[in-house]
Amino acid sequence: MKTKFSFERVDWTNTIFMLVICLIALIGAPLYVVFYGVDVFQIVLFLFYVLATGMSITLGYHRLFAHLSFKAKWPVKLFTLIFGACAFENSALKWVSDHRTHHKHTDSDDDPYDISKGFFWAHIGWILFRQEPIPPFDNVNDLKKDKLVMWQYRYDKRIALLVGLALPAMLGFLWNGPVGALGAFLIAGVLRIFVVQQCTFFINSLCHTIGRRPYCSESSARDSFVMSLFTFGEGYHNYHHEFQHDYRNGVKPWNFDPTKWAIWTLAKFGLAEDLRRVPRSKIVLAEMNAARNSAEKELLRIQELPESDWKEKAIRALNNLLERIQNIYEEFIAEIDSRKADLSRRCMHSWNRKTRQLLDELADIRFQFRIA
Ligand SMILES: [Zn+2]
Ligand SMILES: [Zn+2]
Repeated sequence: MKTKFSFERVDWTNTIFMLVICLIALIGAPLYVVFYGVDVFQIVLFLFYVLATGMSITLGYHRLFAHLSFKAKWPVKLFTLIFGACAFENSALKWVSDHRTHHKHTDSDDDPYDISKGFFWAHIGWILFRQEPIPPFDNVNDLKKDKLVMWQYRYDKRIALLVGLALPAMLGFLWNGPVGALGAFLIAGVLRIFVVQQCTFFINSLCHTIGRRPYCSESSARDSFVMSLFTFGEGYHNYHHEFQHDYRNGVKPWNFDPTKWAIWTLAKFGLAEDLRRVPRSKIVLAEMNAARNSAEKELLRIQELPESDWKEKAIRALNNLLERIQNIYEEFIAEIDSRKADLSRRCMHSWNRKTRQLLDELADIRFQFRIA
């Protein structure tokens, strides 16, 4: 469904803010570099702020506050609330409310960043236009009891201006006088806000458009390794939508997910606990179900095409594939039933391999049929 952009619904505060940030980041910051160059201090400060504010969104706002995927001690909460505010993505309370609504109503009209309203809407449109009707804000009652969250809710803008823009400028001044202050304000302040915001927004737009769907073929959410590189591991969005309470988004050991590594490290230092993990058997079952749904969808698509030799051949191959998926599914259920504990990592890999082989065959059938 496409959204009708109405002029009366424009949120002018957000729109002007976004426009100013965009212009300064894309014109002001490069002009500074051309005129004054950039030194190690400016680069380190920029990287620190990208890491601190970006991780505060992924580890704090997202996995800790929105999904309660682990418990954190107060220093972790305080740090992520302060630097989360500096990302200029609203207070944690508002961010979490929107995000929980997104998970509850994914791909429907009630989803604030519904991708079926178009890429632009999911990316930034929903911020530039007022939400109507105004969301009831009744899905964050647990967080309303948290004193630190409520403190940040009250002072969110002041924290953002002070720590997100004034502090880097002050540090820049101490480093290199007024020129250093201007550079730090432009690079570690405004350019960094632009970069972190756009990376977050791409999770709502790109990660619902491009990528694989290995855990749930029904949802628009996708897994994207490339996006995980720019979002501290949030690119594994298909897994995340299927198992939102898992502290890992990239669940496989080789998945690039710095946020899960950071949470694990915090746990080792006693700063985080009760890390929630989905049992391995449940994950493999989801993958098998997704493989079966993909094969069934392909079969339906081919059945509707005009008659041809290739059509008959493809239908036979797909039926055969579906039968084998069903067989390994039943074997797998029998294996889970015969065990008391969850599957070992080795066992999970072996079932993963079998599922992947069947998916490769599905891709081959699709390919052969398309070039025929
Ligand atoms: Zn999503
Ligand atoms: Zn989420």
